[in-house]
Amino acid sequence: MRVLIVEDDKALGRGIVGYLRAEAFTIDWVLDGETAVQQAAEPYAVIVLDLGLPDISGLEVLQRLRRAGNRTPLIILTARDALKDRVAGLDLGADDYMLKPFEVEELAARIRALARRRGGDPSPTLSVGNLTLDRNGAHADVAGRPLELRRREHAVLLVLAANAGKVVSRQRLIGEIFGHDDEAGPNALDLYVGRVRRKLEPDGPRIVTLRGQGYLLQPA
Ligand code: CA
Repeated sequence: MRVLIVEDDKALGRGIVGYLRAEAFTIDWVLDGETAVQQAAEPYAVIVLDLGLPDISGLEVLQRLRRAGNRTPLIILTARDALKDRVAGLDLGADDYMLKPFEVEELAARIRALARRRGGDPSPTLSVGNLTLDRNGAHADVAGRPLELRRREHAVLLVLAANAGKVVSRQRLIGEIFGHDDEAGPNALDLYVGRVRRKLEPDGPRIVTLRGQGYLLQPA
């Protein structure tokens, strides 16, 4: 799941980003409001937005995004005593908020909850035939056999499983699994898909390649 973090406090940002990456999120981190507005055009599952930024305020970022039709679920980060900001943020279209200081573990849980609600499926697990996939962690198994997926492999399978039976374009997969700082060579996606395909064999769902279109997960 790809998440945009907007936070100018470097120590806090590093803490959040480090924790979320270890939890299998794909993270882009920006430090100011203008960059956030531009970056938010990418397909994020959730945006985490600090309200106190060095250039334009987080509230202005939020307002510009919503006015431009960006409906990505968004969590604002505010100071504990900033009730007005919190209320303004929610009124401007934020979906949730966290009061600083907070436990990053809770932020991760709220991101997952928002992404699930947005997906219209509140269940933390996803099943396709005999494949069961944990949306939150990296766990996946086929008929009880653990798949031992790495972070990006799990991300690939999650997108394919959420769209089982439908073609998922290469662009969409690349957008979901690579951050803007990641090296995503033309063959990187095929590499990850190939690994997942082998791990699903012989009894799991099959990943079908549609040349020039994308990939499709077919239940076993
Ligand atoms: Ca700040």
